[in-house]
Amino acid sequence: MTTWNDRFAQAMMGSAPPPSRQLVRGEGCYVWDSEGTRYLDFLAGIAVNALGHAHPVLVEAVSRQVATLAHVSNYFATPSQIELAERLRRISGAGEAGRVFFGNSGAEAIEAAIKLARLNKGRTRIVALHNAFHGRTMGSLSLTGKPALREAFEPLLPGVEHIDSTIAALEAAIDDTVAALVVEPIKGEAGVVELPEGYLQAARELTAQHGVLLILDEIQTGVGRTGEWFSFMRSGIQPDAIAVAKGIAGGVPIGALVTFGWASELFQRGQHGSTFGGNPLATAAANAVLGEIERAGLIQNAVVRGQQLRSALAAMNSPLIAEVRGAGLLLGVGLSAPVAQRVSDAALELGLIVNAANDTSIRLAPPLIVGDDEIAEFTTLFSKALEGAA
Ligand SMILES: *Cc1c(COP(=O)(O)O)cnc(C)c1O
Repeated sequence: MTTWNDRFAQAMMGSAPPPSRQLVRGEGCYVWDSEGTRYLDFLAGIAVNALGHAHPVLVEAVSRQVATLAHVSNYFATPSQIELAERLRRISGAGEAGRVFFGNSGAEAIEAAIKLARLNKGRTRIVALHNAFHGRTMGSLSLTGKPALREAFEPLLPGVEHIDSTIAALEAAIDDTVAALVVEPIKGEAGVVELPEGYLQAARELTAQHGVLLILDEIQTGVGRTGEWFSFMRSGIQPDAIAVAKGIAGGVPIGALVTFGWASELFQRGQHGSTFGGNPLATAAANAVLGEIERAGLIQNAVVRGQQLRSALAAMNSPLIAEVRGAGLLLGVGLSAPVAQRVSDAALELGLIVNAANDTSIRLAPPLIVGDDEIAEFTTLFSKALEGAA
């Protein structure tokens, strides 16, 4: 009999490493594989399943919408699309001067941001950070600062410069020829790495001085995960645009670019579009997720559970844990040895999903609904996984 592994290898493009498990269903913070084994999911589809799996509010909203009106194209408005755009203006703080463009993924939100940058006074230079991740399409890959992901596809978009994540490098790079600075408030794919203290404030000041758009990639950090609706809110600044995706619709694909102030006036009629972007199905899912985050106080939960996780990690007293980075429920466990893959493999064997973001970093991004029981179970399993990998 052919196994799912063989069928996967034969039918799927060889662009990603082959997975070791086939998942068939989920509920709350748990998923089950095709062997019937249960896993505690502390990755949540890479910060996507904000409400966990099969949350009744999301199931109901998507089922109702697909049975009513799933798709219409951008030639028509729909109630759920307008509602989501208004909601994003409100929760981002962009308010009445905010505008929203809908696409279908993080990369597409970044593509829209790149086109926005091109509309800034005819400037073509974009500054981004080394080791940043902004997506895999040719435009978004041009901003991604990881040579290993880029090399096979060069030449990429011209005019993009990558700099170190220091305020000094920022001061040297930002001038009147730059269209946009694109930054992740916390570098998720890099292993949950924070920016230096005062970085976003300095970036805001310099970009404002030079007419440069400050565009924040909130794709992984947004939608409550870091303990605010968006991570930039922890710094007190207001950006010119934010890219949003991942957690916003709890697993239904959607991406959005939200502009603030003068950046909202840059796109003119006919300059951008997407067939699926902002369709009723995806926007109904997002309205349900964002509504539930508010109703159930899940942003506050991210703060409290994040603290609990930090305490639990500290109490493990493991020589393998060198530091814990991040905010809210986006945490990076920095290891004292390059054994992250072994830790993650050992965890999986024990029934816990975590992510080895690189050799020395374990990324934790549980659903925002995570509670006492799941944190207790995580603590037991992760301690064992660390021992297993030591
Ligand atoms: C995941 C991610 C992207 C790309 O999103 P896709 O939906 O995979 O295209 C871009 N930026 C950041 C910070 C991300 O975490």
